[in-house]
This record gives sequence, structure tokens and C-alpha cells, in this order.
Amino acid sequence: MKTLVVAEHVRGELRPITLELVSAAKSLGGPVEVAVIAKDPSAFTAAVNVEGVDEILALAVEQDEFENDVYQAAVEQLIAEREPQVVLLGFTVGSMGYGPALAAKLGTGFASDVFAVRDEGGELVVERSFYGAKVNGEVEFPGHDRVVLLVRPTAWQTAEGAGSATITEVSVAPASSRARHRDWVEVLAGDVDITTADFLLSVGRGIGDKENLEQFEELAASMGATLSSSRPLVDAGWMPNARQVGQSGKTVKPKVYIALGISGAVQHLAGMKTSGTIIAVNTDPEAAIFNVAHYGAVADLFEVAEELEKLY
Ligand SMILES: Cc1cc2nc3c(=O)[nH]c(=O)nc-3n(C[C@H](O)[C@H](O)[C@H](O)COP(=O)(O)OP(=O)(O)OC[C@H]3O[C@@H](n4cnc5c(N)ncnc54)[C@H](O)[C@@H]3O)c2cc1C
Repeated sequence: MKTLVVAEHVRGELRPITLELVSAAKSLGGPVEVAVIAKDPSAFTAAVNVEGVDEILALAVEQDEFENDVYQAAVEQLIAEREPQVVLLGFTVGSMGYGPALAAKLGTGFASDVFAVRDEGGELVVERSFYGAKVNGEVEFPGHDRVVLLVRPTAWQTAEGAGSATITEVSVAPASSRARHRDWVEVLAGDVDITTADFLLSVGRGIGDKENLEQFEELAASMGATLSSSRPLVDAGWMPNARQVGQSGKTVKPKVYIALGISGAVQHLAGMKTSGTIIAVNTDPEAAIFNVAHYGAVADLFEVAEELEKLY
């Protein structure tokens, strides 16, 4: 299937999702075209010229950084000119901004947070999660000869190997942009940087109440661990952003990761599954966290915490 990948870059660096999208595109059999939309596309062409890419489309625009309307107009133009069957964008903050609008405007098929794709006899079938990642399902696009997909980061390996793509310069009309990129504001690192911690004690919604947090702060301190958490605790304002592990939080790789009362949603696993040793405590024996845990206890986390408090 002819597939168009839209490269993503930030502050002069190609984002890893780009080469993951290339891997996804290759699995559909190709040809694979990669669009680089940048002030100076040549700064990225070498990085995207990996094995399996047939053509790199270099689109020079006025903007250095991602801008929603600029990307939408450029990709719309490319779709009209190139007629790809599949358009792959990252399930990232930028692409989430224009991908659905693009699909709606062009009347294409659409799916977001896609983690598997296949060509089934000329028909595209993709997989994504539903109901807060409780079930995975397949999506088909009957009646659509073109589909825009937002692809989940880390779902594919990054494509590697030297490529031999042809590079084509594509001129685009300057697009008026309703929102402009002005500046980068660094996210405050907070009081700790959980990404560099060797030992994380991570708590999830299983702790039940904000008032219970103090117990785990103390436990983490006495164990020599850094306290981190799943997203609901951050959303509830119980924990600062800087302590969130997962897809929309921090990616961590400590030597030891203890997960107390964390179910193991894909978005959480995306941020910690490569940790050295994962120990999970959960009352639900079916909890997905046990799929990645090296050691697991089907137990009440408060009872486990009590035992740990005796030891430390
Ligand atoms: C776009 C997007 C991005 C996201 N990004 C992130 C992210 O970065 N990080 C993240 O964590 N989530 C993220 N999420 C949310 C994610 O889908 C889950 O909702 C979230 O991870 C669930 O958090 P949890 O495991 O703490 O809560 P729950 O899923 O509610 O799980 C609580 C667990 O605690 C267990 N439990 C309850 N009581 C006890 C007890 N007494 N003892 C032991 N176990 C107990 C339960 O069995 C359950 O498994 C994202 C979602 C979306 C859609």
C-alpha cells in the first residue's frame, strides 16, 4: 500500500516517532514516501533516508517549528498530488492537532492511537485500544480508499539501515497560520528528576485517597526510593506532573520499579516497561502490570506497605 509518512522534528532534532512510522509503513508493503516539512528540510533528509524509504519529499516552509495550519495545508497538498492510500502521523501532540481535521476535511478513514497495521488482501486493518485500554479491537475502513492514522509512539521499532531514497523538492504555497510557534518554555523539572532515579516506588489509583500518599512518601524515603505515580494521581492534583510515569509523563528506566496499585494500562507501560526489575503489587490477578512484572504479588498494597515499613 502506498504510504505517506510525515516526519516530526523539534528544535532541529528528528523525533524517534518518524522512524517508527517508517517501520509501520514498510510493513504495509510500500512504496514509502516520507514528507519533511521544515524551513530547511535538507537538515533532516539524511536522518530519514533509511532502508525501506523510497522517496523523501522535501517541503520548505517559512516556519522552523511545527505549526498546525502549515502542516495541515502541506499534507493536504501532498495527499492530492501523491495519492497515498495510507497517511501515517504520530499519535503526538502536534499531529493530534491536525490529523483528525485533515481526515474530516478530506473524508478519509481515520483511527488514532494505532499500534498494529496490516494489509489484508488490499484492505487496511488496524488495531487500537478501546474503553481506556481495557480491550484491543480491530478497525476496518470499508468504503474508504484512503486512511489517515495516528500511530502510537514506541509501538514499532525505529527503522534502521542506510537508505537510498530519491529526494524530491515539493514547493508549497505559504499557509496562513492561526496559531504561531513563538518560543519553547522548559517544563519545570520539579523537585526531582524521576528519569535519572535508580529506584522508583510508584503508586497508582489503588492507594485510594490523597491522604494515603504521605504513607508512601515516607516509605519511599525510608527505602531510599523516589516516589512516582500513574497519571490519575497527577490529574487529581495529588502528585506533581514531574512525577508521572508513562506516555504523557516521563519515560523511566530505573534498576528497580515497584508498582503499587497500578493496573498497567498501555500508556503507563510505555513509560516503564524497560525498567531493570519490575515488582508489581495488585489485588487483581488479571492486572496487565503483571505481564511486564518480573515479580508480582496479588495482594493488598497497604498490607505489603506495612511489611515493608517493618523492614526499613
Ligand atoms: C492519551 C493518554 C495518555 C495517557 N498517559 C498516561 C501516562 O503517561 N501515565 C499513566 O499512568 N497513565 C496514562 N494514561 C491513563 C491510562 O490509560 C490509565 O488510565 C492509568 O494509567 C491508570 O492508572 P492506575 O493504574 O493508577 O489506575 P487504575 O487503572 O484505576 O488501576 C488501579 C489498580 O489498583 C488496583 N488496586 C486497587 N486497590 C488496591 C489495593 N488495595 N491493593 C493493591 N492493588 C489495588 C486495582 O486492581 C487496579 O488494577 C493515559 C491515557 C491516555 C488516553
